[in-house]
Amino acid sequence: MGSLVQVPFHGRSIRGWVLGATDDVPSRVLDVRKAVSPVRFFDDDMLELFRWVSERYVAPLAAVIARSHPPRVVSEEAEVLPGTAGVAARQVVSSRPLVDHRNGVELSRAIKGGLGTFIVRPAPEDEVDVAVEAVATCLAGGRRAIVLVPEAAPVPATAAAVREAFGDRVGMLLGGDRRMRYRRWLEILSGRFEVVIGTRPAVFAPQLDLGLMLVSRESHPAHREDRAPYHHVRDVSLRRAELSGAACVLSAICPSVESTLLAATVVSPAARRWPPVEVVRPGPEGRAPRLVRALREAKRAFLLSPLHGYGVAQVCRACGSPAACAACGGVLRSEEGVVRCVVCESTGRCAFCGAADFGIRRGGAERVEEWAAATAAVRVRRVPPKGKARLPVEGEVLVGGPEAIRDLGPGGLDLVAILDADLAERRPGLASRERALSTWMEAVGWARPSGRAIVQTEHPNDPAIQALVRGNPDRFHEDERRRRKAAGFPVGAAVFRIAGPPALETSLEVLRPTTLLVSFAGDQTVCLLALEPDRVPELGRAVRELAARDLVTRVEAEPHL
Ligand SMILES: [Zn+2]
Ligand SMILES: [Zn+2]
Repeated sequence: MGSLVQVPFHGRSIRGWVLGATDDVPSRVLDVRKAVSPVRFFDDDMLELFRWVSERYVAPLAAVIARSHPPRVVSEEAEVLPGTAGVAARQVVSSRPLVDHRNGVELSRAIKGGLGTFIVRPAPEDEVDVAVEAVATCLAGGRRAIVLVPEAAPVPATAAAVREAFGDRVGMLLGGDRRMRYRRWLEILSGRFEVVIGTRPAVFAPQLDLGLMLVSRESHPAHREDRAPYHHVRDVSLRRAELSGAACVLSAICPSVESTLLAATVVSPAARRWPPVEVVRPGPEGRAPRLVRALREAKRAFLLSPLHGYGVAQVCRACGSPAACAACGGVLRSEEGVVRCVVCESTGRCAFCGAADFGIRRGGAERVEEWAAATAAVRVRRVPPKGKARLPVEGEVLVGGPEAIRDLGPGGLDLVAILDADLAERRPGLASRERALSTWMEAVGWARPSGRAIVQTEHPNDPAIQALVRGNPDRFHEDERRRRKAAGFPVGAAVFRIAGPPALETSLEVLRPTTLLVSFAGDQTVCLLALEPDRVPELGRAVRELAARDLVTRVEAEPHL
């Protein structure tokens, strides 16, 4: 099983996967023409996982199998290496071992030789160490591990630390060219690595003897695959760990609201370790006096400014009309000295007279860089939106947006400031608040062990702000569950976006979903529906039937809300 073969079908030659033996052979079945590749792409256990993914996300099994390994590079297949012995690992020394955490003994035991689901909420400065120690514990039990990180570049501190600790025993599935990726995957299949580290595709890495599936920064949106089958690394990891009898560890400073529904053991430091967080009102031009004073004293600081650029165009200087993009009517933003539309990206021209000279309302990271430089005693730099994320060095203040908040390892900063927390309220999307909180908590964590944080907001009692102050999202999660339920998308419901002709709406209504929202895009009807997870197989059957009658053109599972 697991072979890729060529078979004749309606006079053509098509490729197919061998799923296993069967006694149920229809009369008009033709022989396999040839095996396309000597590689066995999956075994029984993986096939079971693929079938689960196919059902859960209403995706064809063939699409799931195709996504489970990198695209083939045929010339690499001749050189599949047999397993080789790894080099000795560096001794792993952790400042605060897992067993000192609440429920840490139970976690260690499960990783070493048992199973179970754990949510780890590490102290920010221990996040990397905890992952390394979890892997060490797994290997000490004679089992293998998969570590999943949401981003590839820059290489997350967690991935770099695991690689450093276990050397050649680690296979990295992080970026690289096509040939590299396929070769690495074949090496994993040959059993060469005890540890695999990678982004989303690594959740299907062909590791045997699994003892640990570790999902780093579990609440990160990049853990969701945005191509078919649209799987989520968290859910596939949970299922895979269960099928393999392994421990599943979801690690995050701020876990997702979805994770709160799991029957999981929460592992956290025995004593609270979180920086002091002051909440202040923004003050003139988003500069509270408290913040200005703190910035004057700061030696190493990070300022989180959610908006790019220098500011937003308010008015056309030539004709006095309110500023709007001539091409699409969108908002015009001044960034790196150029005014551009934030919607269609065309160069900023007045929609009324075509002029290109605007009055700008200042605000945004470039403006923050400007005023911070006039305030701070040390140099101030900005991480450009597409620049390489890094921590500030000694004697430096960095200004950056949410995209600058990465897994960069322990921060050790003396100040972290969230400049405009209220902007998250105005962002569209049901999950925008949760995303904002998780980003803030990661940033504020950089103030450990001896710095502090300042957050500017007009709403100090907002549950997200309170969670940030406490370093604990529990009450925020309660509030979030209430809010999502009221919006018709309860946490834990299965959500699908399905497109098709106008008849689609009535065809889906008969399924009586919890929520069905309908919108139109061109001649397509787009239905966003939520339903109880145990009804997904029923939806799957309906969708396959509708697709056969051309009543469904596209199915997207668990879209970002
Ligand atoms: Zn535009
Ligand atoms: Zn004008």
